Amino acid sequence: MPGEGALIYYRCTNPKHQGPSGSASDNLTIHERRWAFCPHDSRATGHTWTETGGVDLARLRVLLREGRAAKQRS
Ligand SMILES: [Zn+2]
Repeated sequence: MPGEGALIYYRCTNPKHQGPSGSASDNLTIHERRWAFCPHDSRATGHTWTETGGVDLARLRVLLREGRAAKQRS
């Protein structure tokens, strides 16, 4: 697992993967030799990887929270 300062270059935007899987799952995996984050489970199949441009894990968690909040408002 990378430290909090590691940059994540991909996040999964598959609509089915935006909630936690409920188990103690891994959220990070390697895609194209860079860190990739799936909010659901990195070991699931059918990820839709979207480039983040490189954000650290703390920032990515903020982005995910904001994304969910925006979805609830609409
Ligand atoms: Zn995924």
